[in-house]
Parts: sequence; structure tokens; C-alpha cells
Amino acid sequence: MEKYLEKSREIPVRGTYDVIVAGGGTAGFAAAVAAARRGSSVLVVERMNCLGGQMTAGIMGIFCAINDQEKVVVKGLPEEFFDELYELGGVNDGLFGYEECKKVAQFIDYDAEAAKSLANEYVLRERAKGHTLDILYETWISDAITTDGKVRGIVVENKTGRSAYYGKCIVDCTADADICAWSGAEYDQLPTEELHPVTLITKLAGIDKQRVLDYYYKEHPEWVHNSPTQGWAEGIFHKFGIGGELEGVELPPELEYLRSWFMLIYESPRDGEMYLNMTGEFHVDGTKAEEISDAITISRKRIDECVSVLKKIIPGYENAYILVTASMMGIRETRQVKGIYKLTEEDLFAFRKFDDAIASMSAPIGHHTADGESAVFQNPSKGRSFDIPLRSLVPVKVDGLIVAGRCISASHDAMGATRIMPGSMSIGQGAGVAASLAAELGVEPRDIPADKLNAALLEQNVNIQRED
Ligand SMILES: Cc1cc2nc3c(=O)[nH]c(=O)nc-3n(C[C@H](O)[C@H](O)[C@H](O)COP(=O)(O)OP(=O)(O)OC[C@H]3O[C@@H](n4cnc5c(N)ncnc54)[C@H](O)[C@@H]3O)c2cc1C
Repeated sequence: MEKYLEKSREIPVRGTYDVIVAGGGTAGFAAAVAAARRGSSVLVVERMNCLGGQMTAGIMGIFCAINDQEKVVVKGLPEEFFDELYELGGVNDGLFGYEECKKVAQFIDYDAEAAKSLANEYVLRERAKGHTLDILYETWISDAITTDGKVRGIVVENKTGRSAYYGKCIVDCTADADICAWSGAEYDQLPTEELHPVTLITKLAGIDKQRVLDYYYKEHPEWVHNSPTQGWAEGIFHKFGIGGELEGVELPPELEYLRSWFMLIYESPRDGEMYLNMTGEFHVDGTKAEEISDAITISRKRIDECVSVLKKIIPGYENAYILVTASMMGIRETRQVKGIYKLTEEDLFAFRKFDDAIASMSAPIGHHTADGESAVFQNPSKGRSFDIPLRSLVPVKVDGLIVAGRCISASHDAMGATRIMPGSMSIGQGAGVAASLAAELGVEPRDIPADKLNAALLEQNVNIQRED
């Protein structure tokens, strides 16, 4: 490849903070609020125009469980956020009502715009308390400032130009472990052919939901009760695939793929709206701009094809249209940092507990096949949960850095469970608390005393001393 030697230049240092949160997504939002609540000065840098990442800009619309199928286990900020979202009318609670749904439902559908507003409200509340919680939206982080094996700050690009910010502790919530990669921290990434497929989530509107439900309940009640998600049996429409619906329907050869394509269609809490989560493309490296761009192009075509077929074959979809597509590509998996401890599937199924736990959860392991055709969910035992240790958030070598969200140190299988939104938020809250403590105590994240970490997490109602 031809190379261009960029000239070195001085850039302004526009601020110094206790904690810098790189990426204000699902985990980053929680990390920033958690650190600000402890009184740390916090800067969040986010390339989109809202907090929440996949939860909001990605219009995911479906939280995986915050419970162990008997009780709430993901306490602290995720539970608080869900409760408030429910009060705002942004959550679909099905037949059993919200309180029961929270304790047993494996999936909770929500409105992504309501989540955007609520995340914004959380920031304003911190500012009203006099806490420093600054945000730079529409700003890309392009480098990590690293000296002597320690990350000291970040370089950003935005409308103002190129600038630097220094922080006592940096939390990498970019989902792709960008800061880790740029600071020389080691990471794992599977070959592209083995990665989870990518999806551009879509929200459809103009749907006569009652007619859709009537069609399934009358024509195919067996699908309702054998759905891979219990949500449907609990009164919230969740449909995997449309292979059955297409039986006996002739399709042009280029649309034949839809018969065996991964697709989940689920209700939004809003009238006439459903989310469409279908494989957009597979064998995509989400750290390569060209591959993401090509995947977006092909995903848009597939979404159009799918909607045109839904309109023709399922009663209630006749007037459906695409209300909005996500403003960021849905990438499930890229880099996993090499942390002091790598969480494995065995840890999850042994419901392992750790002295330095920063979160507890009990999520199904979601295996999306790399060919984009199907997904299988392996449920943990009822009433049991596993811990996420701080050690899985701290890179083996580089200092000044904590990782949160889907790129923590976890195996491919384990991250299939830890990456879900309530988990990512909870890990984010733990990382924010830990970063704030590291800055306050003047220690490296790896040296934070476990008793101080525990006490600070309990102050924020994080569930780390639960009993199974
Ligand atoms: C298609 C798909 C379907 C899913 N389905 C579900 C589901 O049904 N239920 C569920 O609970 N979970 C689901 N998940 C998982 C879950 O949404 C994600 O794993 C989780 O949101 C990841 O959180 P995060 O904070 O690590 O990443 P994100 O929420 O993606 O946040 C990363 C943030 O960093 C920002 N960023 C990244 N790089 C930079 C940079 N260099 N400079 C500035 N900003 C940057 C991004 O804009 C983003 O806001 C799904 C994920 C995908 C992709």
C-alpha cells in the first residue's frame, strides 16, 4: 500500500479530567454517570449525537434479561434506568405487568427514542448537582496518548479540529477496544469468517399489530408457544424467521435466502411499530471502515427485500413502511482485550464469583452462526447468576486504562452473554466506579483495593453480594 508521511504538529490540550470515557454507548453512558455520581470530573467523547450507542442510536429496542428468571440480578443503574423508562411509557410489559416482567422475562422491549431522552436527563441531573459531566458529541477519538506503558489521554477530531484531552483514568467503551489497540494493549480477534454477523436494526411503522397477532394466534398457535423467546408467550410479539410463513409461497431466486435467514421481529411499545433485527451481512470485520460500509449497503438492500415480502405475505403488514434505520451499524463482535483474567463459558455455567466483582448477571449465551442464518440461546439455570471481575476489565500490560462493554476480556462464547445491554450497562457502571476510585486514590486500576471497590459499588446499589 502507498504510504503518506503525515507532518507532526502541535495540537491544543483542551481539558484535563479525572475520568475520560471513550465512547458514550451502552457501557459508556453508565460509566460516565457512575463516575460523575462519585464526584469525579468526567469527559465523554462520542461520535454520534446521543448517549447509549447500540441501545439508542443502534435502535436495538430489546433488552435481554436483567433477571435470573426468578428475581432481578442486574441491579444498580440498569434497573434504575429500566424503571424510569417504564414510568415514561417506554417499555413493553406484556401480560404480566412490569414488576413480574422484570423478574422473569428474558427480553424486555423498549422505545429507543425514550431511552435517548432519559440518558440525556441523567446527564442534566449530574450537572444540576454541580458535577462535571462534559460531553463531546459528533467527535471521533483517533488516538491514545500513551507514554511509559500508561494511557494519559486521547486525541480527538471534530468540527473544531484536532485536539487532545488528558485524564487520570481512561475507560475504553468504544465496543471495539479502540483505545486498547492504539495504546499497545494486547487483544484477541477471531478470523472474520468466525465473527458474529452484523445487522442494521430497522423500525417499521404502519403495521396493524392486532391483525398480525390474530394471524399468528389463529393460524400458527404452535409457533407462539414454541418461540425461542418466552416473551411471546408472555404477550409480547417476538417472531424468529419467516421460513414457516413462506411455505408454499413462490419467491424469485434472489429472495430465496429469506426462507432460512436470521430475523427477529418484535414489538415496540408504540402503536403500529415493530423492530426488524435481521442479518445484514456476515464475515465482516467491524474494525475496517470499508467492510462496514459495504455491509451497510447490502443490509439496506436486504431490509427493503424483507419488508416487501412481509407486506405481501403476512396480514397486518400491508401498509408497513420503514420508519427509521439505525444510525450506527450493529456490530456484535470485534476485538476482546487481553485482560488479567479472561472470562470463559465455564465461569458462566459454574456461576463463578470473584472477590473483585464489579457486576453480576444471568444472561443467555447467544450464539449467532457466522453464516448469518440462525441464532441459538443457551439459558443459564434459573435462580443463578455469575460475576464479572474487575480483572477482566484491566489490560494485562497497559496502565491508566479500564475496558467496559462488549470488548472486555472474555472468550467468544462468554461474550455472547456478557455483551447484552443490561450486562454492558452494568459493566460500564462498575468500570466508572473503578475509574473514579483509581483517579481519587492515585493508583492504577489493577491496584484498586477490593474492599474499597466493594464499598463504592454497594453505595451505587450494584448487586455484588447477592445470594443465589
Ligand atoms: C445487531 C445486534 C443485536 C443485538 N441484540 C441485542 C438484544 O436483543 N438484547 C440485548 O440486550 N443486547 C443485544 N445486542 C448486544 C448489545 O446491544 C451490545 O453488545 C451492547 O450495546 C454493547 O455495548 P457497548 O457499550 O460495548 O457498545 P456500544 O453501545 O456500541 O457503544 C460504543 C460507543 O462508542 C462509540 N464509539 C466507538 N468508537 C468510537 C471512536 N473511535 N470515537 C468516538 N466514539 C466511538 C460508538 O458510537 C458507541 O456509542 C445486540 C447487538 C447487536 C449489534
